[in-house]
Amino acid sequence: MEIIDIVYIEGDGIGPFVMEAAMKVWNAAVGYVYNGSKKINWIEAYAGKKSLEKNGSLLPDETLKKLKEVKVGIKGPLETPVGSGYRSLNVALRQKLDLYACIRPVKYIPGIKAPVKSPENVDIVIFRENTEDVYAGIEWEENSKEAIEVIEFLNEKFKINLHNASIGIKPISEFRTKRLMKMAIDYAVKNNRKKITIVHKGNIMKYTEGNFRKWCYEIAEEHKDLIDKNSIEINDVIADNMFQQLLLKPEKYDILVTPNLNGDYLSDAAAAQVGGIGIVPGGNIGDEIALFEPTHGTAPAIKDPKMANPTSLILSGVMMFEYLEMKEVSSLIENSLKKCIKSGIATKDIMPDNPVSAVKFAAKIIENFN
Ligand code: NAD
Repeated sequence: MEIIDIVYIEGDGIGPFVMEAAMKVWNAAVGYVYNGSKKINWIEAYAGKKSLEKNGSLLPDETLKKLKEVKVGIKGPLETPVGSGYRSLNVALRQKLDLYACIRPVKYIPGIKAPVKSPENVDIVIFRENTEDVYAGIEWEENSKEAIEVIEFLNEKFKINLHNASIGIKPISEFRTKRLMKMAIDYAVKNNRKKITIVHKGNIMKYTEGNFRKWCYEIAEEHKDLIDKNSIEINDVIADNMFQQLLLKPEKYDILVTPNLNGDYLSDAAAAQVGGIGIVPGGNIGDEIALFEPTHGTAPAIKDPKMANPTSLILSGVMMFEYLEMKEVSSLIENSLKKCIKSGIATKDIMPDNPVSAVKFAAKIIENFN
């Protein structure tokens, strides 16, 4: 029997509940397809509150070590307090493991209420840069030594009379931009996608987002033969216009490539277009390691976490099985999940009048395998 090692992190809030449901589906699908000749060996790693209780650390080195060794993982959401407290563990994981592309395929599932007129035409894959931009975590509080030094420099250079300001840095680099765009080009070729749109605010931030646009075109030019051979169109759109386009004409877009902050906003807006972040999956991919995760957070607003929707996590697993070249497993899960939702079996966010729990939803998906 072939054993496939995968690291998992339960996550905070609804994390353990959606993980329990999703894992039932993943294990059953692997069993169904391989009939005992392949099995997943789930290796638990800790992060967030569970880790703090167990190890006294929110993100222990042991977790990073396991992910570096095994190279494939899947996680639930992790809480990040706003303003004070620790920095985002999600951002730390992406940076420490150099998971430089956050990939979010946004596609409609029939049966789900969506705000757009023709949600069935939405089929967008967002490539968001995951390690730099204003999310690099380089910022200083007002009155800190560093902030005061930067303010003095800015006042001197630009005569702007700045006082008592917090300072953040927005690094955007050639190497990290180009490797993201190259990953998007390779994805387009592999998945027969025909258009890549670079989304940026280069009109305002000329040397950061402007260069993001320039470097994306440069790497596209370096791979012109590949792009022409596969008839891939490359264009660019200013980020604020892209938000409008996403709301009004999402069907015109295929792959979007964008810096970190734009990508964060755009991903959630795109997810909302097809019915919410409880549904859309995600993956954080580097050259060596891949860590898949749902697009939603810990959902503190959900009173009964057993009723949370595990779809986003289950579909993140579908992306993971595709990454592991286990296409039969991903198709089986995706088709069966769609069948369930279409027939009206779903959690409270989708079927408020007649909901099933996350675990019941998982059981129904498994019943529908064929
Ligand atoms: P959230 O995604 O947790 O919730 C936003 C809305 O979506 C809420 O109404 C919630 O009830 C609903 N929702 C989310 N997931 C759902 C699901 N599976 N089923 C049904 N409904 C669902 O966003 P938030 O409330 O802004 O964030 C809560 C916490 O999660 C914060 O600490 C935040 O930092 C963290 N967070 C973590 C990640 C991650 O781990 N990658 C991502 C986003 C937010």
